[in-house]
Amino acid sequence: MKKAKVSIIKTKQNPGYAEIYEAVKRALDLIDGIGDIIKSGDLVLINPSWVAPPVEREAGCITIPEVPRAIADIVRDLGARPVIAESSAVGVDTEKVIQTSGYKDLREMGYEVINLKKTPHVDIPTDNGKIFDTVECWELVQQANVIISVPKLKTHDQTEMTCAIKNLKGLLTDKWKRLEHQEGLFESVIDLLGAVKPKLAVVDAIVCQEGVGPVFGKPVEMDLIVAGKDLVAVDSTCAQLIGYDPSETLLTVNAAARGLGVMDPGQIEILGETLDRVKRRFLRAIEDDPVQVEDFQLIHGEVTCTGCRNTVMSALIDMRNAGQLEYLHGITVLTGGAPFPEGVPLENIVTVGKCMPKECRTQRHVKGCPPNNAYVVKAIIGDRAEVKRMYADDTLEKTDSEAGKLGS
Ligand code: SF4
Repeated sequence: MKKAKVSIIKTKQNPGYAEIYEAVKRALDLIDGIGDIIKSGDLVLINPSWVAPPVEREAGCITIPEVPRAIADIVRDLGARPVIAESSAVGVDTEKVIQTSGYKDLREMGYEVINLKKTPHVDIPTDNGKIFDTVECWELVQQANVIISVPKLKTHDQTEMTCAIKNLKGLLTDKWKRLEHQEGLFESVIDLLGAVKPKLAVVDAIVCQEGVGPVFGKPVEMDLIVAGKDLVAVDSTCAQLIGYDPSETLLTVNAAARGLGVMDPGQIEILGETLDRVKRRFLRAIEDDPVQVEDFQLIHGEVTCTGCRNTVMSALIDMRNAGQLEYLHGITVLTGGAPFPEGVPLENIVTVGKCMPKECRTQRHVKGCPPNNAYVVKAIIGDRAEVKRMYADDTLEKTDSEAGKLGS
């Protein structure tokens, strides 16, 4: 069987546009170019990560503009029409991300830079989806002949790592992003992958994030570009690059299990740099400076996976950042069917996630798989204070009412 090709190119430290263009070009040349997937006249949707501020390059949060710009220039040379387009996380103003980052400059230079949240949406059928028969995407996703995922490589507080596959969530409406969390993120993102069928991934691994990514992680300079036409192979390689076995990153595992690409390192040909030369173990979200409060208990059940483990941990870090740790006193949080502890009043127990059996869910249950961090914070604080969103502009109530009450 022919191996999937993934290229890794090292640029110089703090590279400028010329170096990044050269690195992207070389990364694509090593995987036999992109003439086989893009033809003259094609509409090519280049999808970077604009998850949320901070937008500064040294924060390692969003895809830096030079990477999609280089891809756009290469796509244009093939006679196709490149469009750089994305929608930020739920509650985040995408236009603000554009206006405060170098994407505004790209617009002024004549590149098409589109805030998808301001565009119409359509339903796109999934290919044998496990959770959904259709997904609600932006119309441009349906119109594009080719989709290119251009993620930022980071550790992630719910999915261990975010890279080429997880990045595609920006192609969904906010309503559907929330719904995916409620119905099961680890399979519904794979439904999305099967629906939109991206043909290429080019990863911005120049300044990455480790620890509690994807927004507040610690920056790590790697100065790498990674590219491949098989997104599962790209994510499998990037997982190894930051110190995971690919089997630890569930989105990669689920995508491979559905035959959407190759995860097995033995079936992936790495070109350019060797993994051994450039890899570095990233601090995992769960290892990053845990919150400890006396009189607060967090109990995980036998079936709790990293989704709920990392979500609750991340919610606690959000509370610490917001100066709201006082609201943890006396509270017990249970996940994954953990048994009720002795001596804790029922009204002080917050149950989390779809894995809590229905009969064990308390009044303060948080829906989702995994739920959004902000809803865990809300369940802990109750009416005692407002949840401070750490990166979204909208309040939780506004996001909630706009997106509608979804799922069970
Ligand atoms: S609800 Fe269950 S499967 Fe879903 S993230 Fe939580 S522990 Fe994992």
